[in-house]
Amino acid sequence: MKQSMTFIPTLREVPADADIKSHQLLLRAGYMRQNASGIYSYLPLASIVLKKIEQIVREEMNRAGSAELLMPALQQSELWQESGRWYTYGPELMRMKDRHSREFALGATHEEVITSLVRDEVKSYKRLPLNLYQIQSKFRDEKRPRFGLLRGREFIMKDAYSFHASFESLDEVYEKMFQAYSNVFSRCGLNYRAVIADSGAMGGKDTHEFMVLSDVGEDTIAYSDTSSYAANVEMAPVITQYEKSSEEQKELVKTETPDQRTIDEVAQYLNVEKEKLIKSLVFKVDEKFVMVLARGDHEINDIKIKNLYGASVVELATPEETKQAAGVLPGFVGPVGADSKIDIIADHAVQSVVNGVCGAGEENYHYTGVNLDRDATVSQYADLRFIEEGDASPDGEGTIQFAKGIEVGHVFKLGTRYSEAMNATFLDENGRAQPMIMGCYGIGVSRTLAAIVEQYNDDKGIVWPAAVAPFQVHLITANAKQDAQSSLGEKLYAELLEAGFEVLYDDRIERAGVKFADSDLIGIPVRIVVGKQAEDGIVEVKERKTGEGMDVSLTDLHETIS
Ligand code: ATP
Ligand code: MG
Ligand code: MG
Ligand code: MG
Repeated sequence: MKQSMTFIPTLREVPADADIKSHQLLLRAGYMRQNASGIYSYLPLASIVLKKIEQIVREEMNRAGSAELLMPALQQSELWQESGRWYTYGPELMRMKDRHSREFALGATHEEVITSLVRDEVKSYKRLPLNLYQIQSKFRDEKRPRFGLLRGREFIMKDAYSFHASFESLDEVYEKMFQAYSNVFSRCGLNYRAVIADSGAMGGKDTHEFMVLSDVGEDTIAYSDTSSYAANVEMAPVITQYEKSSEEQKELVKTETPDQRTIDEVAQYLNVEKEKLIKSLVFKVDEKFVMVLARGDHEINDIKIKNLYGASVVELATPEETKQAAGVLPGFVGPVGADSKIDIIADHAVQSVVNGVCGAGEENYHYTGVNLDRDATVSQYADLRFIEEGDASPDGEGTIQFAKGIEVGHVFKLGTRYSEAMNATFLDENGRAQPMIMGCYGIGVSRTLAAIVEQYNDDKGIVWPAAVAPFQVHLITANAKQDAQSSLGEKLYAELLEAGFEVLYDDRIERAGVKFADSDLIGIPVRIVVGKQAEDGIVEVKERKTGEGMDVSLTDLHETIS
């Protein structure tokens, strides 16, 4: 690629509204431009890097037995109504109407579309397991789009979905996908950790996030300093069970006996806004109570709860349904409508959770529970808090430390959440209809690009790891007006291409200083400068990472840069 013919609009100044390195550098080095908040054009260099990341993802997905397809980004609302998410996904889902006033969503994720596709085509256990993926733009109307590509409103995701006849089969494929994800992020050169994304209802083995370690990460990872334990703090409440003396019990029973009040009374009583409280839910389970708090800004709609859980009202939910609700949709909660009655459990628990939610920043909603042990007796109580630095690790080995992480991937055992709601069944070996068991697996491709830049930069610009660099070699003529330099430049460019190198050739008539500064910003691993010694058949070869340069004669050039 000749630089005079491509489009790399570099900037000398740090753009005012870009606070983090990857955002600044991708703008300054001419990789992207913002179109609207959270919406970007990927310019030629970014486009090449995205293709390289996608290629790594494709190779690993194909190797794991997943087949690529491409589904529509424009999705009919009926499917989302079937799953119930039309009512629960909230304002993050971009919704629109066609000319006939039919409602559509722009795909934020594709569980609904793929479940309907597979439901219509796969009828027998003989066709299972099935594992399909796509790489596509996703749309989420994020409350606070920020940090450039790290949190966009239109972004590129690889999403995969697997369908199974048994949980064992799901476990096997999950394992394969987990390995594939590890391979992808290792090949991208990232320093990452796979963390437990849910320590709650599903036992912490059924969903993992892949976190790139970075101070600008929006997630906090709790990890053990001596074992492999690592979890997303947001999903790692510590539940301390303890016994109460009979005297204490009497006091507690007095103050904690559930008491029906209207949401208005509760809001007044707790001195919190009704809107905030409406986002919370108290599940009643066999005279015990599990409370789940809303996460994010989901609108709660109690009419549609039936679609979600198959329960008419959540107060009648069985422990299994409660577990499923909390596990399958962490953060989703059922109905506390404006007119609902809610049961107050331990006042202090409600109060502290409400405080926790309000105080933790708009995006850090946590879900949590009270008296989660279903064998609990009246003498057992639970305290809830989130894991803290210095705590003993939950696996019993070592002490908890915190680190910041960027979520670049997420693998999730969905179970039958979608297949049941959308009636996706298959006939088993005995001819009985069973709901398909599902898994889903996402990688933020554009976020991964930015995460790589976060980890690979210096004060001069980006320093790409070789596997995803837009080019292998940056060939530069120091003075393109000089015949000897420009003719040697052209000759080398042709030869290097011929030899199979990926070359960006800076043939522009610009001052050498400008060209070198641009080259440092762009971050290609190897630079070849054709300068004053061109006539003697000598060029300078410089490594971007170390900044070390040396003079190399043309006869040795291929060997030096290979
Ligand atoms: P986050 O917690 O950062 O909002 P998420 O948990 O909502 O992400 P998933 O639904 O798990 O995201 O989607 C799969 C992957 O898509 C994420 O792991 C992440 O890499 C990427 N992703 C999600 N939201 C965005 C976004 N707004 N911009 C860029 N990438 C995103
Ligand atoms: Mg999100
Ligand atoms: Mg997340
Ligand atoms: Mg996620």
